[in-house]
Amino acid sequence: TLSDRLTSVLKNLRGKGRLSDADIDATAREIRIALLEADVALPVVRSFIAGVKERAKSAEVSQALNPAQQVIKIVNEELVGILGGETRRLEYAKTPPTVIMLAGLQGSGKTTLAGKLARWLQGQGHTPMLVAADLQRPNAVNQLQVVGERAGVAVFAPEPGNGVGDPVDVSRRSIDEARRAQHDIVIVDTAGRLGIDQEMMQQAADIRDAVKPDETLFVVDAMIGQDAVSTAEAFRDGVGFSGVVLTKLDGDARGGAALSVRQVTGQPIMFASNGEKLEDFDVFHPDRMASRILGMGDMLTLIEQAEQAFDAEQAEAAAQKLGAGQLTLEDFLEQMQAVRRMGPLQNLLGMLPGAGQMKDQLANFDEKHLDRVQAIIRGMTPAEREDPKIINASRRQRIARGSGVAISEINDLVNRFFEARKMMQQMAGQFGGFGGGGNRK
Ligand code: GDP
Ligand code: MG
Repeated sequence: TLSDRLTSVLKNLRGKGRLSDADIDATAREIRIALLEADVALPVVRSFIAGVKERAKSAEVSQALNPAQQVIKIVNEELVGILGGETRRLEYAKTPPTVIMLAGLQGSGKTTLAGKLARWLQGQGHTPMLVAADLQRPNAVNQLQVVGERAGVAVFAPEPGNGVGDPVDVSRRSIDEARRAQHDIVIVDTAGRLGIDQEMMQQAADIRDAVKPDETLFVVDAMIGQDAVSTAEAFRDGVGFSGVVLTKLDGDARGGAALSVRQVTGQPIMFASNGEKLEDFDVFHPDRMASRILGMGDMLTLIEQAEQAFDAEQAEAAAQKLGAGQLTLEDFLEQMQAVRRMGPLQNLLGMLPGAGQMKDQLANFDEKHLDRVQAIIRGMTPAEREDPKIINASRRQRIARGSGVAISEINDLVNRFFEARKMMQQMAGQFGGFGGGGNRK
């Protein structure tokens, strides 16, 4: 995954004050591979990477994130931006019924989607009706009727025994029926072919002209991969559409089709299908899709949490003191609280790339120990936190009583604190300034 590969790039970048062109190029190469692996079409990858590089080069150095995290953040923001930023809502007709037409290749999931969409709309107080305008396959009408029954919505279909009906005629009549029976939304399920086909495209265009849809949704299988671009272009030119629905997201496709279709047609992705059941359906979430395409949702969560919890000024001050061997227990407490605000340490460490081998140690890690350490420090006066040397026997007794721990635990903490501080001082001496100059100018 990108996360694994970026680990090495991360190593190289970590600790540098700002992004060099070489750093950005190295990271861009990894992102390029990740996008191609996610089946994003090549021209889309190219223009995307160019945009990211541009932004990375002019970006201000973040106080909260290391350079690699910062690049990942930029990549993610660009992805979310292209995928739609805020999700667009359905446009409803001023006078009902609102007509929603579904178009897409055979097997893309139109009929399934019709049921999901109808039920979703019903849940919002609408009274949708499904229209069987796929009269190509013998079973198609029946399939829609089953879907309609399951969703609990009306289905308009050609009368049985009349031979094969004309899909354009059925679609036209469905609008009158919707008005009569007061359905405020009509969802027209059309036929598809296995490949792009002129006859099918013409039929879809004829249905479009007959029902004048308020929304035409292009339904596309997320597993389609690189073919997404040519298919989307064919439907854009043949029928035209106002929105995209991505299906089969429950599969293992990384979802590059989403970025390709969005970038090439400019139309928003509005809904996502992720299963065969009626409830496997949601409005499209650009942020979720972005992390899926990047394949590093955990890393993004970590970045977000780091930004929230990390107070750069505080860290800077602590680092300065550390370098001068002046770390106090108060600093220690603050740092510990900042880290813990990001969530349980087990989760936190588990999210880091390469944490796999640490699983066992993580499982044995006792968070309660940190609670006790915090309790001890909180039981100290400011003067004691500032200069732990003054903590004599009677003070230890008072702190133990106040924080409900044994005196031996306080001894432990104070001793380890002195040891750690001594070690820092030695390191500072050895390396000529520890911590203060690392991440920042
Ligand atoms: P249509 O030809 O475009 O109408 O496609 P269908 O709605 O008939 O779906 C084709 C097949 O894909 C059916 O077996 C559906 O059950 C299945 N399908 C549709 N949407 C999804 C989805 O989101 N996830 C999964 N796993 N299967 C789906
Ligand atoms: Mg169908």
